[in-house]
Amino acid sequence: MRRKGAYIGGYAKSPPLGNFMDTVFLLGAGASIGHSKPAGNHALPSIFEFFAKAKLLNLRGTDPRIKRIEQYAKRILGKSIWNKRSHINLEELLTLLAIEIQLRELPELLEIREAIVEIVQFVISELQRKILTTTTTDYQSFSRALEDSDTVVTFNWDTLLDACLEAENKNQFRLFHDKLSAYGEQIMRMSGIRFAGPYHVLPVHGGPGYYLKLHGSVNWYYCTNSQCRIHNRVFPLPLTDYVQYCGECNEQMSILLIPPVLNKEYRRYPLIRRLWTLAADAMSHASSLVVWGYSLPPTDFQSNWLFTKARSKHLRTITLINPAIVNQSHTKLNAGFVRRFYDIFRDILPKTSLTLYATYDDYQNGLNIFTKFGIHPKQIKNV
Ligand SMILES: [Zn+2]
Repeated sequence: MRRKGAYIGGYAKSPPLGNFMDTVFLLGAGASIGHSKPAGNHALPSIFEFFAKAKLLNLRGTDPRIKRIEQYAKRILGKSIWNKRSHINLEELLTLLAIEIQLRELPELLEIREAIVEIVQFVISELQRKILTTTTTDYQSFSRALEDSDTVVTFNWDTLLDACLEAENKNQFRLFHDKLSAYGEQIMRMSGIRFAGPYHVLPVHGGPGYYLKLHGSVNWYYCTNSQCRIHNRVFPLPLTDYVQYCGECNEQMSILLIPPVLNKEYRRYPLIRRLWTLAADAMSHASSLVVWGYSLPPTDFQSNWLFTKARSKHLRTITLINPAIVNQSHTKLNAGFVRRFYDIFRDILPKTSLTLYATYDDYQNGLNIFTKFGIHPKQIKNV
């Protein structure tokens, strides 16, 4: 296993020789959906297709937690989660619920939240099981090509990329597991040191890259008991059907998924705060930004803020990988979509710094949308 000298707490690595490209990959739902496409019906859902997948897995009518969610959605939105046309956005549902909980922490509301999170975990892990046994490519090629200094920032809850990074023995994965998660603190305690000491960061490029899951993960467990000494500490665990209990206080642990719209949630968990800080730092040192399957939703202010961090003197190139870059008939550049990203950097980067790909495969083969679809490069003017 390759290891680098510099970790989050403590000493620093000597500057690398030659020119270093610091690349940050920013992944959205489209990346996992693209990766899981060979699984057909069992590909991971977008936030709008979630309940259709739950139906596919026969959860409708059989699971009491689904019943609870069904009633809640009916009450708050007046819509059925089973009706495709009601377009129920799972993240929106979680966010509305979180706002209600902030006002009044009613046990009934907490139960609904627990139900949503558990069903999300169930659906994602069931689908993943089918995906992992199917031939898949994107995340495997991505993991193989990943340099030690590359940072991966993702908003995805699934663990498909985790599995590929782990299989490829990637430094980014180990660094997260051993240093950032609660295991890092646990190890330090065993060696007699209770807390990590202060540290400073040397302004060098080419330090170790991170794997940062900013919205939590279906396999992250934490203890909700505020009296417990590992309260809100996050443990990544293998995905199983077992209920997990806290090793310190023996209470049942919860799964950490963060709805994207609520800033308050980010501050509650030390790990999530750390991840956002590291992501912002990586963005502000990135010379190359690769945005894969992320569509920059206007309501996700926290992520929009993260993008502004990349507005630095280091930034040279922006790469977008997304089928939404071209229209459905593949004849025109979807200028409006690209503009959403470019607008953040318009005053500091020329349009020539933009490279556009429809799929990860195209990105790997250097086949941009103009060459692939025969779209006139002049269309970039409309961005
Ligand atoms: Zn506990």
